[in-house]
Amino acid sequence: MSIFTKIAEGEIPSYKCAENDEFYAFLDINPLVKGHTLVIPRREVDYIFDMEDDELARFEVFAKKVAIAIKSAFPCVKVGQAVLGLEVPHAHIHLVPMQSEKDMNFANPKIGLSSEEMQAIADRIYQEFLKIK
Ligand code: 5GP
Repeated sequence: MSIFTKIAEGEIPSYKCAENDEFYAFLDINPLVKGHTLVIPRREVDYIFDMEDDELARFEVFAKKVAIAIKSAFPCVKVGQAVLGLEVPHAHIHLVPMQSEKDMNFANPKIGLSSEEMQAIADRIYQEFLKIK
């Protein structure tokens, strides 16, 4: 079982930002910026482009809703999207609120946040997500 499956199933704690039956979103534990979120399918699949077309389309539509929630909670120029998957073999989309292009540089030093700050960030995104139809 992948670490992200354990997170989606609640076996490993995470800062939940959004969810539905098929997908789950939570804060990256090592954020580039405040609001850096990961979106995953609950189904365990390593490589995003191994997903069936229909599932991939639903995944992206779910990520879009999470991005809208992030932008409402943390005003930014745009929410950037990236797929790397070099560290964790469970498909995931990084959503990063950007003030400029350099916010998407994954070589940047990560910001350190307390668990209270992480919880407050996740709660803000979750509340915005609940407002989206
Ligand atoms: P990638 O696979 O996209 O190269 O990197 C994996 C990402 O997942 C990294 O940004 C890393 O900080 C994040 N990550 C790895 N393990 C955990 C974890 O246990 N919890 C959370 N919330 N994020 C994780």
